[in-house]
Amino acid sequence: MPIPAPQPLPPSADGTDVPGGGTVTDRLVAANRRYAAGFTDPGMDARPVRRVAVVACMDARLDLHAALGLELGDCHTIRNAGGVVTDDIIRSLTISQRALGTRSVVLIHHTGCGLLSLTEDFRHELAAEVGQRPTWAVEAFKDLDEDVRQSMQRVRTSPFLPHTDDVRGFVFDVTTGLLREIDPRD
Ligand SMILES: [Zn+2]
Repeated sequence: MPIPAPQPLPPSADGTDVPGGGTVTDRLVAANRRYAAGFTDPGMDARPVRRVAVVACMDARLDLHAALGLELGDCHTIRNAGGVVTDDIIRSLTISQRALGTRSVVLIHHTGCGLLSLTEDFRHELAAEVGQRPTWAVEAFKDLDEDVRQSMQRVRTSPFLPHTDDVRGFVFDVTTGLLREIDPRD
């Protein structure tokens, strides 16, 4: 099937919304024009003000800045499916700590996570369907608290991270907005 040519963006000189709908990305781009119209350069450098990196699930119900009282420039937010500490999360944390000065790590999983309903079968079924085995693990889990502990352990034992004294893990309840801290020793 031929790939359709991209449509040109609608005119935006006045910064108004995309007429007649457009794709979701068109609407995001239109929203950005409004955002930029009121934006002033905060004059920050790239080092997070609160010297903290937050690792969390990509879940759409989790508004990290609002939930944690964070402002622009305060933290690094590193997200993936599940908020699982994978090699790529370690890569980002290593850069965060060694190049950009963060010292603390906050790990956040949440109730109702999609990873709770998946298993590694997802990976096997995917491989059977597309004829190629993914190099990554699904990192599905059945027990939220246990997976937070596992994630804390992976951060604390990483040889690449110089700052592992302040690593704390939480489960965010998507129905109450509250964080529940996980004791790494349980
Ligand atoms: Zn999730």
